[in-house]
Amino acid sequence: MNVQPSMDPGNMEVTGMTVGLLDTRCYIAADASGEAVVIDPGADAPEIFKILKSRAWKTRYILLTHGHYDHIGGAADLRQACGAPLCIHEKDAVMLEDGTQNLSSLLGIPYSPVNPDRLLRDGDELAFGGSRIRVFHTPGHTPGSCAFLILDRLFAGDTLFRESVGRTDFPGSSYPALRKSIGMLLSKLTDEIRVMPGHGPETTIGHERRHNPFLDGIKTWI
Ligand SMILES: [Zn+2]
Ligand SMILES: [Zn+2]
Repeated sequence: MNVQPSMDPGNMEVTGMTVGLLDTRCYIAADASGEAVVIDPGADAPEIFKILKSRAWKTRYILLTHGHYDHIGGAADLRQACGAPLCIHEKDAVMLEDGTQNLSSLLGIPYSPVNPDRLLRDGDELAFGGSRIRVFHTPGHTPGSCAFLILDRLFAGDTLFRESVGRTDFPGSSYPALRKSIGMLLSKLTDEIRVMPGHGPETTIGHERRHNPFLDGIKTWI
């Protein structure tokens, strides 16, 4: 099955920013209706909230692609500021509660536990503006990594980067699982889908299909 954009992509505005010590990419996707979602507020919650407020966007969800500290560090403060529910895959929820598991202790950063509001599963669809957000469970980098498809954009977290893939040398990581997850994404998504990764520049499914050296031999179904 191919997943196609379900609405004119021109009706969505995506703002990307680089936040925190590890240059994490945080994104705000805003629908023409004025609803927004924030993906991976790893740090700088006040600055992110300032953007939401200045555009009068109503934040519908805070979505976390996975539970590593560099992607979740600003989530609690942003939730407090905007009131939107914090969503993470059920298998990474424990990382919100544990500084060892989310690697903040490795970075020497004090961390206060956070409770998620909604646990995600593969295939979930979240209503958003005139569209919907489709959740793909993409384990490998972490057990509960997810990618979120909104119209023609895939917010991929640390699973797929431009001409690279996510690290799998952390506790709970799995390289075979990562390859299987990327194979699933390549099978379901068409070349023109834009990939917004958790670090580095954006790319497309088509570019990665042709140029990502890590994808050689990955099993896909198309
Ligand atoms: Zn990560
Ligand atoms: Zn990261």
